Amino acid sequence: MRLRIQLTGWDRRTLTLTDTPRPDCPLCDGHGGRGYDYGDHEGEYAGTEWDPCSCWDETRRRNLLRLPRIPRRRRGDRDPWSNEPPF
Ligand SMILES: [Zn+2]
Repeated sequence: MRLRIQLTGWDRRTLTLTDTPRPDCPLCDGHGGRGYDYGDHEGEYAGTEWDPCSCWDETRRRNLLRLPRIPRRRRGDRDPWSNEPPF
C-alpha cells in the first residue's frame, strides 16, 4: 500500500490521502487494473470496462483537509495571490 496525496472535487477542493497501485504488481503491472473493451449486441464498440486490481483499494481514502474556496476576483480588488507590495 502506497499512499498518495490527491486533490479531489471540483467545487469543494479536498486534499485526500489515497491508496495507489503497487508499481511492481504482477497482475496489473502497476497500472492499478485492466481495461478491456466491450461491444454492444451488434458487436460495435460500446465502451471500455475498467477492472481495478486487488493490489490497491481505490476506496481507501481519507480526507485530510478541505481547502477554502478561492473567492472570485471582483473588479477593483487586488489580486490576493499577488506578491506585489501594497503602495
Ligand atoms: Zn495490481
